Amino acid sequence: MVGGLIGKLDRAMPTSTIAARVIDHIKAAVGPDGWSDDTVRNAPMLQDQRRLYQGATPLVVRPATTAEVAAVVRICAAAKVGIVPQGGNTGLVGGATPSAAGDQILVSLSRMNRIRELDAASGTMTVEAGCVLAHLQEAADRADRLFPLSLGAEGSCQIGGNLAANAGGLQVLHYGTARALTLGIEAVLPDGRVWDGLRALPKDNTGYDLKQLFIGSEGTLGIITAAVLRLFPKPRQTVTAMAAVATPEAALAVQALLRAASGERMTACELISERALGFAVKHVPGVRDPFRTRYPWVLLVEFHGGAGSDLRGAVEAGLADALSSGAVADAALAETQAQADAFWRLRESIPEAQRREGGSIKHDIAVPPARMGAFLRAADPAVAAALPGVRVCAFGHLGDGNLHYNLSQPEGADSAAFLAEWGRMSRIVHDVAAAHGGSISAEHGIGQLKRAELPRYKAAVEMDLMRAVKHAFDPDGIMNPGKLL
Ligand SMILES: Cc1cc2nc3c(=O)[nH]c(=O)nc-3n(C[C@H](O)[C@H](O)[C@H](O)COP(=O)(O)OP(=O)(O)OC[C@H]3O[C@@H](n4cnc5c(N)ncnc54)[C@H](O)[C@@H]3O)c2cc1C
Repeated sequence: MVGGLIGKLDRAMPTSTIAARVIDHIKAAVGPDGWSDDTVRNAPMLQDQRRLYQGATPLVVRPATTAEVAAVVRICAAAKVGIVPQGGNTGLVGGATPSAAGDQILVSLSRMNRIRELDAASGTMTVEAGCVLAHLQEAADRADRLFPLSLGAEGSCQIGGNLAANAGGLQVLHYGTARALTLGIEAVLPDGRVWDGLRALPKDNTGYDLKQLFIGSEGTLGIITAAVLRLFPKPRQTVTAMAAVATPEAALAVQALLRAASGERMTACELISERALGFAVKHVPGVRDPFRTRYPWVLLVEFHGGAGSDLRGAVEAGLADALSSGAVADAALAETQAQADAFWRLRESIPEAQRREGGSIKHDIAVPPARMGAFLRAADPAVAAALPGVRVCAFGHLGDGNLHYNLSQPEGADSAAFLAEWGRMSRIVHDVAAAHGGSISAEHGIGQLKRAELPRYKAAVEMDLMRAVKHAFDPDGIMNPGKLL
């Protein structure tokens, strides 16, 4: 069972154990616009995206500058008060939700939303942590550049949260995760010192790469306040297509064929199961299956190209080859931007559709792409045996080996009773992923949701090293306590 199911919790603010003088000191450090103790206003920030956790805090702090963040952290460090950094609060593992005890303050980066510099010629932008991802994409676009990080939550997640979670998104195949898109970081350390690592250097071999420790650290090593991000040439052509295949192995073969045919211009390769597609068509208005027949799997692929080449012709030829060899059973190439948008809408509607289908237990596992089929052949019977009638709703980023191996409740089942099986079912799925050389999280991270599970899947030596890193940065354990480790 996932801890802290919301309906069962008392929403009243527990008596805070943080001394009133500490709270007053923090309020003074950020000024009247920089804090809120209004329980109604703060309420949305105290509940995680999936409503699995309910937190409490006596104070939400909204610093406007790095200096203010540092001042707040110094006060908390002196008083040994826990700090929970929060961006857009779209994370899916309860990482940005404070404890229910009301003994931690929440630091929202939302007022730190300036683009400090955009250098189109060098292909970099220096941005504050609270910038909303979609706004950064738009700013890059206005400068005739591409910032390729793109995910369903982009209208509200913030770049600081994206980096803290090492977000991947839809174009990892070509552009990489947040790690690959970041050249430098500025962070406030748990003792209140500021580390200015805002270097716009593609190459820097001067020892440990500290920025990479902050990326994916889920707020446990410090507060990211700014970053230097990489920009890319804006694609002059985008080609989007869907292809129906019989098996994950066929999907991988088609991916390889289309990558080669396009001259390695494939930027996204999403795999959608028949059930996931069916849910989207059934529940989300306007979503249509591009094919007349239902197939076991459908691929959604996208390609970016520069001017001058016939990218569309190359993809079309690749699809024709795949159709004539029988690897692809049917294919649809988007003729217009509206059609391409409709293909993506189908893919992005799946989480919402699954919600409407009842309770769902979600996973963001990864296995080496070549083992995706073997993983599915082992996991499907294992979950069916453990919970008869459970419906696997799988979809994900085939190119990255990252599958949302989600489970929907049996038809007509009680949703709460199904969700009470979360721990047991996740254990089965995670064990199968691990047995196939995989990971229990390729996207969402560990947060509170998978914290207890982590030591089962990481070697003791790896856990020791992670704890040693945490201790070196944060010996008093004030940064996002109770998350990750
Ligand atoms: C619809 C939807 C689609 C998604 N799709 C994807 C996807 O395709 N790929 C993927 O990887 N993820 C995906 N996610 C999850 C994804 O990780 C988050 O949406 C996003 O990266 C988190 O950003 P945020 O600003 O909302 O962070 P939050 O949820 O606010 O925080 C996430 C974690 O980062 C920490 N944190 C936040 N800001 C800072 C900071 N400035 N400094 C230090 N720590 C900080 C928090 O303490 C928490 O541990 C999706 C989520 C949703 C709701």
